[in-house]
Amino acid sequence: MNKIDYLRLSVTDRCNLNCFYCRPKEKLIQLPPQEILSFEEIVKFLNLATHWGIKQVRVTGGEPLLRRNIVNLVKMLSSVGGIEEVTMTTNGLGLANFALPLKEAGLSRINVSLDSLDRRKFLEITGCDNLREVLRGIAEAKRCGLDPIKVNMVLLRGVNEDEIFHFVSFALENCLLLRFIEHMPINGKGERWYISSTEIRERIQKKWGPLEPVDSSPGTGPARYFRIKRNELILGFISPLSHPFCDSCSRLRLTADGKLRSCLLSGFEVDLKGALREGAPEEEIKELYEKVIQNKPKHHHFNFSCSGKFMFEIGG
Ligand code: SAM
Repeated sequence: MNKIDYLRLSVTDRCNLNCFYCRPKEKLIQLPPQEILSFEEIVKFLNLATHWGIKQVRVTGGEPLLRRNIVNLVKMLSSVGGIEEVTMTTNGLGLANFALPLKEAGLSRINVSLDSLDRRKFLEITGCDNLREVLRGIAEAKRCGLDPIKVNMVLLRGVNEDEIFHFVSFALENCLLLRFIEHMPINGKGERWYISSTEIRERIQKKWGPLEPVDSSPGTGPARYFRIKRNELILGFISPLSHPFCDSCSRLRLTADGKLRSCLLSGFEVDLKGALREGAPEEEIKELYEKVIQNKPKHHHFNFSCSGKFMFEIGG
């Protein structure tokens, strides 16, 4: 069993983008506010979880920047004793305004999800004409020292696969750590969009010459890194289908509505919110926590069924 030291904390199920593969139209109903964990409840849990091994928190969503007073939450999280790093995954909308306050509140690094550098394609994928705002957000985050900025691109066959080279050049020009993510056909949706990381690497090698693997110690995350020899650019590949990383997975997930789960792709979860709101004693919460860890699957379930939930609901 891996050491569990990383919590992906979803702070809202709301999002300001409607990426067609992530947040389908029939899923646009939002949770009522009283169903969402409060800052105090999150911190109460974290104060316990740090004793059980949690050291890093990644704030995600939905879109985390939409959570009211998100800067305060980051400040509260980074003040919890035992938390060594607070990071965030965002779509970048609003980041230009948030980057500095977040940095000052203790955020260490940021990942920005971006699937197209073409305005029309961005609109097609996300339903929003806001590419420029995301690019401004990335530039501002860089200016504020939220380094290294990882740009995560989900490659979708027939949709944005023609942008691989553009993204590589963009990463090179802006000193960004670009990571290509294999699309997961969650709940049986979208098998046709899948492109393997191997295929992406082959395409890159044809244009830029050899790629060589870069050491990345196990347990530090799901990506495998390669360097383009010719220009030294390091690229990450997250390959849940072709190269599953369950063996090195050190994470738990807490959904915005307070369900604790050990895997994106397993339906097993416990109702942490219920326990916190009932004032359950520490031992009871620890029991729930351990139950989740014991039920951590050793491998992904390849039907990628998330009990009907999508990434934006669980906290991608
Ligand atoms: N709003 C934030 C963002 O955009 O980064 C956080 C939540 S979003 C669900 C996190 C990531 O999950 C995004 O990079 C999105 O592209 C990715 N994602 C969503 N559905 C996916 C799928 N089926 N396969 C792979 N990645 C997916």
